[in-house]
Amino acid sequence: MDTHCTAIILAGGRGRRMHTETPKQFLSLAGKELFLYAVETYARCPFVTDIVVVIPEEDKERCEALLAPQEKVRALSFSGEERFDSVYAGLSAIDWPCDVVLIHDGARPLTKEEDIETVYRTVLTDEAAVAAHPSKDTIKIVDDRQIVTDTLERSHLWNVQTPQGFSRTLIEKAYAELMADRKNNAPIFVTDDASAVELYTEKKVKLVETSSWNLKVTTPEDLEQIGILLEYRKKTTEENT
Ligand code: C5P
Repeated sequence: MDTHCTAIILAGGRGRRMHTETPKQFLSLAGKELFLYAVETYARCPFVTDIVVVIPEEDKERCEALLAPQEKVRALSFSGEERFDSVYAGLSAIDWPCDVVLIHDGARPLTKEEDIETVYRTVLTDEAAVAAHPSKDTIKIVDDRQIVTDTLERSHLWNVQTPQGFSRTLIEKAYAELMADRKNNAPIFVTDDASAVELYTEKKVKLVETSSWNLKVTTPEDLEQIGILLEYRKKTTEENT
């Protein structure tokens, strides 16, 4: 039996930390809107059968036009207040055959196809797999005045990114519980999808070591650096074709 895999690309943030009028995912980098890089990379993956793109409702027309050539894009969903609201909107749109869900930040334009494939293949065996790499920096805990209160042991610290992949049943269960808590105004500390699975299910999440190309645009400096890398990649791809 064929496995059906849906990718949910999140492009619904407001980019509060970017301080730009246009949300970061719609800024143009190396000649293309930032979120299109991720959509195109997932569309090229043969194991990804369908794609949902989550966008702000007010950008519907612009996104419909930009995504028109993308045959695997089956639905556009409208983003919510928090990232997890947007993920829930994406999950709720899936009304086609789907066994595996890969969730990706649209603000990560450099993610490699082989890293997406490694996460996907690990979901097939482990049900919950997340792109990550061991922390290169020492991580300290500080108080409100930025005074160090503790230093963590680096050997067990990993930076976690996207793609975050799950069996559809697992991620739907985790998000159903999370949204029930949200409805009851319970405090929610979920900044990634694996946290929802850790908190609301018994399943252990497996980290998959991926390449350090998997950067995310968060600040104006990230935008500058990632812009340079995209230009570089564009040039080397053109030279090799
Ligand atoms: O804010 P952060 O960088 O963690 O956002 C990660 C991704 O989630 C971005 O691609 C952003 O567009 C998306 N997002 C969203 N809806 C929100 C917040 C963030 O789709 N409410």
